[in-house]
Parts: sequence; structure tokens; C-alpha cells
Amino acid sequence: MYTVAREPPLAAVLSPEFQDTYCATCFSEIDASQSDSEILTCDDCTQVSYCSLKCQRKDWKTVHQLECEILRGTSQKMTVTMRLCVRVLLSTIGKSDIDGLETNYKEFRSSPKHNQFLSDVLTIIKASGHNIFPKSMDNNKMIAIICTVLCNSFGIIAEKRVEPIGSGLYVGLAKHNHSCASSCHVVFDGNQAILRSRDRQYCKNTTISYVSRMLPTFERQKSIRNVHFITCRCEMCLNEDLDLTGLASKCQTSKCQGFVKNGSCTTCGKSALIPFEQSTQSTSKLLDILENRHKSMDTVQDEYRHLQNLREDYGRILADCNVAILQLDEQLAYCASEMKNVPEDMELVALRGVQHFISRLGIGAPEVTRRLYIACKCLSRLQKYSMEIPKLAVQSSLESHGEDHPISKFLADLIIRNLEIQEFRNSEIQKFEI
Ligand SMILES: [Zn+2]
Ligand SMILES: [Zn+2]
Ligand SMILES: [Zn+2]
Ligand SMILES: [Zn+2]
Repeated sequence: MYTVAREPPLAAVLSPEFQDTYCATCFSEIDASQSDSEILTCDDCTQVSYCSLKCQRKDWKTVHQLECEILRGTSQKMTVTMRLCVRVLLSTIGKSDIDGLETNYKEFRSSPKHNQFLSDVLTIIKASGHNIFPKSMDNNKMIAIICTVLCNSFGIIAEKRVEPIGSGLYVGLAKHNHSCASSCHVVFDGNQAILRSRDRQYCKNTTISYVSRMLPTFERQKSIRNVHFITCRCEMCLNEDLDLTGLASKCQTSKCQGFVKNGSCTTCGKSALIPFEQSTQSTSKLLDILENRHKSMDTVQDEYRHLQNLREDYGRILADCNVAILQLDEQLAYCASEMKNVPEDMELVALRGVQHFISRLGIGAPEVTRRLYIACKCLSRLQKYSMEIPKLAVQSSLESHGEDHPISKFLADLIIRNLEIQEFRNSEIQKFEI
């Protein structure tokens, strides 16, 4: 695949839980070895931190000076989307950058939930008590901009993590339509969005996926319908077989490794432990728990234990290839890679589900690269491990992220460190250069 476009965000915001670990301007990791007193945090609002004085000054000059007043002026807890709306509003004063982007104005106005959001943001802005915005920017204009953010913002993914670290508005990216089965995809380097395509040339009509393809069709469609008011009918959404695998439950034979598709187990032929409808519901419920869990946990150990309990509960009924189980296994592996003590079953935790990720989306899909990367992080903590997964990881990251991306460099280094240089040169280096 090729990098066909690269774009900085018009505005971007970190999720509050990453406020002290990533720079609010460039989204690079803040050096954790610095003492608290050395971390550059805005003294006035204490809601943004920076990697350097340069980033702090840049942010202050462009948006934060005004944003800071708004953040201090409200007692309401602002969500990431709310903060992104404020940043976009401040960044577009007197400019026409986002004119022409979809707004879905009418649809948002007639949806009670969204309409409430629009007025909440306006209330927060007005509460700062200052005349930050010029008179030409009346309520309607502001609402249109907030709508633009609602339907065009993008979750920013740091490759080392399992959940998005923030949200941004990318004007160029936002012009592309959605398809889950797109031949292009978006990856991030800091807060820069990178468009990767199978074709060497950029094509204006190219589509991108707005959602993770590790979700079942009805979940992907729901999240797209929620802000775009369209129902995706792409190749992937019509692939019933893929969904049956992604929603599969266990069979009635204990310890059978198969899964139930079309009513009978692929290995032993027995029927399902639970009806298909229940397996679908449990999948949704587990996905929901996983999406919201980081908000309630504190230490990695606690998280790991909590996830293990979930694995035991849901693993009894849902099959290993089920998309919710795959995401659970990914989060478990992520915790294991971060924990102080290496868990006894590290190898199992590192690798469980990896093959299902690959069979679902193929080597070279960004979701697969991330999963392989996490597996490698786990394995690299062991004394001895096979090079098979790191090699697959390199292969996948070269496709999905490209050779210049930090994740590809990390993975290639991992291999070089572990193989005897000579042996590596003789047998493998040519393969990776292709
Ligand atoms: Zn920075
Ligand atoms: Zn501030
Ligand atoms: Zn689709
Ligand atoms: Zn079976």
C-alpha cells in the first residue's frame, strides 16, 4: 500500500484520561520520566499538558488562550466532542476552512438527543461571559459548525493503545465517503492522519471506513447511522458469513475448539449452547462493557483481573472467533504488556485471537497490525519466543502503516534485536524489502 495523503487536524482534543501522558498540541507522548513539576501544564485551567515549551506557546497563540477562558468559565464536565466543538469554533473564526463539509443540520436539529447537545455547547460558550466570538458568528452559524464536528470528527488512534486517545477534525479526510470494505484506510502518526491506499495515485472518490471493522455489521451501521443518517450497504455489510463467524457462540461439547455457524458446530457438529439471538445480545453487551471500562478502573492489575473475569464469564458462551471476545483478548494482551509482573500464561494471552483477526481482515489491515503489535509487546517480555508473530507483524505494518511509521520501525528493531544479525541478513532481509 502507499501513503497518498497526510494531513494535520484543523483542531484536535485528547481524551481526559490521556491529558497527562500526551501533548495537547502534537499528540506525542510526554516523557514519563519527568517529575510532575517539570511537566508543562496550563496553570490556569490545568486541563492541557505539553511536550515542550514550543508546543505550549503554539497552542496558546492559536486556540488555547481563548479556550482556556471557556474551560474555566463552565462548571459542566465537558466531553471530548464538546471540547472539539469549542476548538473548531475557535479555529474557524473568520475562516472558511470547513465550508462545504456535510453538516446534517436538519437531521441533528430534529433529533432530541443531538439538539440537546447543540444547546449544551452553546450554553458552555456563553457561560464564559466574554465576547470571544465576533458578532458575525451568530447562533445559527455556530450550530452549523457544531453539526459539522458531530458528523465529521475522527477518533485518533495511538498505535500503542487499544482505544482512541482523542478526537480531531480533518478537513481533507472528512470529504471522503464511508465504506467498511474500502481499499483505503487511515492511520495516525501523532495527530497527523495518513491516508494509505492500494493505488499509488490519490483518487478523490476514494472511500474510507469511519468505524473499526472489528465490530459486527449492526454495530458498525448503528454508529454510522447515528451521525451520518445513512445505512452502509458495502460488500462487508452484505457478507453474512463474516457476521455469523463474528457473532458465533460455543457448541454444547465442553472444551470443543469449534464454533457454531448456521446452527451447528464447525468441528463436532453439535448445536449451540445458546440461541443465536442471545449470542448476538451478549456480543453487544460485552462490546459495550469493553468500550466504557477504562473510565472506571485505576491500576493495570485491577483492569487485568476485571478483564480476566469477563473472559471467564463470556468465554463460556461466546466462541473464540467472536468479535467481542477478540476485542476482550486484545485488551487483556494490552494490559499484560503493561503490567509490572509478567503473567504466567503470557504466551497464551499474547497470541489468543491473533489468527482470527488475520482471517477476518487479512494481513495489512490496521486493526490486524495493532493486534500483532500488542502480541509482540507481550512476547518481547519473555526470555524466549518464536519469531513467527514478529515477522507477521512487520509484514502487516509495512502494508498498513508504511516503512516510515514508528510502529514499523519498532517491529523491525524487535526482529533485528532478536535474531543473530548474520542469520537475519541471509534469510529474511530480502523478504521484507519486497
Ligand atoms: Zn508537543
Ligand atoms: Zn488553560
Ligand atoms: Zn459497510
Ligand atoms: Zn463443537
